[in-house]
Amino acid sequence: MRFSYVSHLYCPKCERTYDVDQIHQLCECGSPLLVAYDLESMRQKVKRDVLREREANLWRYHELLPVKHPEHIVSLGEGMTPLVPMQRLGREIGIEALYMKDEGVIPTGTFKARGAAVGVSKAKELGVKQLAMPTNGNAGAAWSLYAARAGIQATVVMPVDAPELTRKECAIAGAELYLVNGLISDAGQIVAKAIREYGWYDASTLKEPYRIEGKKTMGLEIAEQFSWQLPDVILYPTGGVGLIGIYHLAPRRPPLPRVSVSGG
Ligand SMILES: [Zn+2]
Repeated sequence: MRFSYVSHLYCPKCERTYDVDQIHQLCECGSPLLVAYDLESMRQKVKRDVLREREANLWRYHELLPVKHPEHIVSLGEGMTPLVPMQRLGREIGIEALYMKDEGVIPTGTFKARGAAVGVSKAKELGVKQLAMPTNGNAGAAWSLYAARAGIQATVVMPVDAPELTRKECAIAGAELYLVNGLISDAGQIVAKAIREYGWYDASTLKEPYRIEGKKTMGLEIAEQFSWQLPDVILYPTGGVGLIGIYHLAPRRPPLPRVSVSGG
């Protein structure tokens, strides 16, 4: 039985494909890369029932995650967050069955830990020793902590206006932290320069293909928690790549759940 059914990386824009056992960041054409799985053979070999025996964290979906060998998993127990019924609020706004997925209980306190857990694990599997990223706060804190857990040195650049708490989280985790008097785009330029100069792994959003795979587990959990009956609508903030992750994993046949965007 394969631990992961990952097959390759591909470009959604020009359709070039890439080897999943080598470090790749963007496509030659400049587009972000996505991860492909051998879903046909997985469908034949893996049954939903196997999930019953598994631990309540996102690695329960390891067949649909990119890490090939379990010894490379870097975990702090992230995932399988509660789906909380919101009856009173639901009644007030006229939604009969309203639920909130509580991502606040996850290590480091946000859903960014999902992307970091899978992104850092795959980086470890690929032999990465040093990574760098710009951040507005939460992602930097999560990646710093998981990198520390993996024995990878992280360099994080964040705007001086980012929340002080996340600054402390990065520092406590042992990341090299730089503050920039500007926006996240300025931080991004500094990271890009450092990566060119030192050859570090670029963990910037969408420049490595694997954090989306961690984020998509929110969608897998929603499906499993509703006994594989997808909700009519999923409201998801536009702030992260989870939106791409959840949409991207949905089966290519109607009806898809409507994924609505809200600010944040
Ligand atoms: Zn391309």
